[in-house]
Amino acid sequence: MFKSVSRQSTRLPVLSFGMILLSVLFIGTMTKVYGAESGSVQIKVDQVGYLPGSSKVAVVTAAAKSFEVKRASDNATVFKGELGPASPDADTGDSVQIADFSKLREPGTYYLDVLGVGRSWTFSIRRDVFSRAYYLAMRAFYGQRCGTAVDLGPEFPGYEHAACHLKGEFHTSSGREGERDNIGGWHDAGDYGRYVVNSGITMGTLLWTWEIFGSKVKGIKLNLPESGNGTPDLLNEARWNLEWMLKMQDEDGGVWHKQTSEHFSGFVMPEDDHLPSKVIGTGQEPYKSTCATADLAAVAAIAARVYQPFDAKFAARNLDAARKAWLWAEKFPNVTFKNPAGVNTGEYGDNYCGDERLWAAAELWRTTGEAAYNDYFVKHYPDFRLSLDKPAAEGWREVAAMGLWSYALGVRKGSDSDVVADIRKRTTRAAQAIVEQTKKNPYRVSLLAKDYVWGSNGIAANYGMELLVANSMAPDPSYVECAMDNLHYLLGRNTFSISWVTQVGANPYHHPHHRPSGAGKAAEPWPGLLSGGPNAGRQDDMLTKLPAALPPAKVYADDQRSYASNEIAINWQAPLVFLLAGTLP
Ligand SMILES: [Zn+2]
Repeated sequence: MFKSVSRQSTRLPVLSFGMILLSVLFIGTMTKVYGAESGSVQIKVDQVGYLPGSSKVAVVTAAAKSFEVKRASDNATVFKGELGPASPDADTGDSVQIADFSKLREPGTYYLDVLGVGRSWTFSIRRDVFSRAYYLAMRAFYGQRCGTAVDLGPEFPGYEHAACHLKGEFHTSSGREGERDNIGGWHDAGDYGRYVVNSGITMGTLLWTWEIFGSKVKGIKLNLPESGNGTPDLLNEARWNLEWMLKMQDEDGGVWHKQTSEHFSGFVMPEDDHLPSKVIGTGQEPYKSTCATADLAAVAAIAARVYQPFDAKFAARNLDAARKAWLWAEKFPNVTFKNPAGVNTGEYGDNYCGDERLWAAAELWRTTGEAAYNDYFVKHYPDFRLSLDKPAAEGWREVAAMGLWSYALGVRKGSDSDVVADIRKRTTRAAQAIVEQTKKNPYRVSLLAKDYVWGSNGIAANYGMELLVANSMAPDPSYVECAMDNLHYLLGRNTFSISWVTQVGANPYHHPHHRPSGAGKAAEPWPGLLSGGPNAGRQDDMLTKLPAALPPAKVYADDQRSYASNEIAINWQAPLVFLLAGTLP
């Protein structure tokens, strides 16, 4: 049976060793000595920490009255407070008390001591407290690179793989045959497939991270093979996947849906997966599909803007690809994709591509200022405006919000001011609704009971992204605080008291559904990877084994076999990066 404490296993977090040492050093003088491994699961903190000026809240799920915040270096009490009244949380079944220590602003490393309960994991208060997490989360994309050898270097010895998937070929469903040079891109998730549609929302989110938070992230080196080439590292890493996406475009402008083997490989390292990597299409004319094509149009249109100052030739190539993709999607407005017979890798099926086309129109308008794209957007936007009223509004299948936000963020001469005003109004109204629902939640997370589905941690991150996008349209500190609340949930302030990012925080999860982590030599999984999170849908055997009456937020297993609750994926990694970037100084 699943118990959160049983997951600590033999893989001690890397930080523990340092903390144990620290504890030993103080053992002679202190009455109470804690190692980081002794944090109570009943005290939930953001294990990375809090910004000095932000609200600082921990959650306690054992009956208690008061708490103290102690400095980790000498166990001195720096703050005393009373716990809030107990309130029941239906999503977890927990009785929740809040420990608010927002007034503590002094930078340092601390833990909570709750009389009669125990102590929390350590956390820090610092202006740049999330910089390391950002570095690891963004660098995790480098670890997903396909078609090249990857080595995380002396910082993470043993985290490496040889060049993988060096041959591409056409599947019969693509309308072509023979070899195809489609080397590159990122492994999508725990598997080694590459999917244009999921790359679409991922790349949109990452390129927007640059557009909105470029001044915050530009100084953070990711130690990539390209580092120091004059292009910021976020854009260096994004380009690896973009180059592959561009290769998925046929000469007529259409884009094939995915490149994968016909079925998933075993839990082997990528270079040991010898299943042929095939470009897969719809199986009949025109073979390419509209959602993938319009997603490429949107992403390449953004790329044409953001790469312009660093590589004008590459920017122009992207704009040309975006235009060609746009024209193809006009000619074939809704060719949808289903796995052809004999193919059972991820489908990313979507029966409606109007939202992808809206997003492409918005990005092309924002980049070029050409009237045809504006006309299309203004004509079709009434069909999508209501999507902003249902946060979290964005995901790989639903990208209308990306189009609407982009139109309002990228106002230029000729933009329809009524449309812009309407989008801004709906976006801020949605942000206020998210703030309200988060205040009502005892754990201060934006997730509603219905949100505990496959990839719920990605939904939490996307709530955060939506709030930060609203903040960049109409600044409001409550949006930023609420976005941070979702980050705190992901980094430890949750019912399991675990950080859902590998090797981040004192008590991270250990067993992602991620082939290089499962098959690799290192004890800990590859660093910086966000877990999918609790999933009441229970689509795998590990989850169906859990007690039937479990509340939705508890349906999670830190087990490699739980692909439905513990897989990593680029589409939820990207909004984590976006959120972390927003917190940087
Ligand atoms: Zn590969």
